[in-house]
Amino acid sequence: MNAKEKVERWIRPSILASSAYKVPASAGLIKLDAMENPYPWPEEIKQAWLDELRSVDLNRYPDACPERLKGHLRQIMKLPPSMPILLGNGSDEIIQILALAMAQKDRVFLAPEPGFVMYRVIAETAGARFIGVPLREDFSLDRDAMLKAVQQHQPALVFLACPNNPTGNLFDQDAIHAVTRAAPGLVIMDEAYYAFAGKSFADYLGQYDNLLVMRTLSKLGLAGLRLGLLAGPDCWLHELEKVRLPYNINSLTQKSVEFICQHYQILEQQVQQIRQDREKMLVSMSNLPKIHVWPSQANFILFRVLGENAGFVFTGLKMRGILIKNLHGSHAMLQDCLRVTVGTEEENSRFMDALAEVAG
Ligand SMILES: *Cc1c(COP(=O)(O)O)cnc(C)c1O
Repeated sequence: MNAKEKVERWIRPSILASSAYKVPASAGLIKLDAMENPYPWPEEIKQAWLDELRSVDLNRYPDACPERLKGHLRQIMKLPPSMPILLGNGSDEIIQILALAMAQKDRVFLAPEPGFVMYRVIAETAGARFIGVPLREDFSLDRDAMLKAVQQHQPALVFLACPNNPTGNLFDQDAIHAVTRAAPGLVIMDEAYYAFAGKSFADYLGQYDNLLVMRTLSKLGLAGLRLGLLAGPDCWLHELEKVRLPYNINSLTQKSVEFICQHYQILEQQVQQIRQDREKMLVSMSNLPKIHVWPSQANFILFRVLGENAGFVFTGLKMRGILIKNLHGSHAMLQDCLRVTVGTEEENSRFMDALAEVAG
């Protein structure tokens, strides 16, 4: 047997058939494709942070269960003071932990679509079946379709991203309650963008025995640190902790997060700025006749180009030095759709100029 035959014999067929998540090269481009916060820290804050990092002992393993850090996170994220928290290397890793703990042949994980692609990718690599339930035409949650799918498939896990990525909208509260009540297994409220919406389901933690709330620091301004969290009843987290690798949150991340928790108002101000700039951008974009924009409660904007194809606009923007996300082809409802992250005022105006040129 040659190497290729060995690979094909031993790597699972579902992995062989899949392709790796591609991150496009962005060197030299204005990067508006990944919902990152565009603002650096003030110089004196950066200096104070570097001073803190000096005390990290890289020869030692990190704290395997950083309770104090969890306390700070509960505070800045306005989670109930006693609510148990599981930490992940980004919320992507938390999704993976859930999948490792719950996936089985013939078990279903379910989420509305178009939605966050990692739910499907992780479910399928872990060996569960993924069911996507289409959103309504206006991207609102289709309550009846969701309830029917929950009834039919009895999913182990339901993911609800709120605000949703890539559509940017919040789902109707009553529909979320109905789905949570009907779901036989876990419901994960993925609140990656909650700071940009100001709405959360965290108040219902503990009221439903099958509801967990997931958050991340990535979209708030710390994408490079990789820290996500899952909050909810101890009976669930107790089991999930068995799947989490003991040292998944490295020492530099722990120290840095602890530091930024003391300076959280910087991130809050940046979020406020981004929210304001999002509204300005929505107005400017909706003034372009060939662009249809959807309202957004997140730090990005979904739009469709009319009478032009998305690939042409994507390439035209890239040639003008701007990288956004082309969603055409990712889901039937996203025909000729693109997604742009709200950047700095300067970046947004460069984007607007380029967009007017390419699709004006
Ligand atoms: C970006 C994103 C995440 C994952 O973020 P991490 O960087 O892995 O914490 C999770 N859910 C949604 C809906 C997202 O858009």
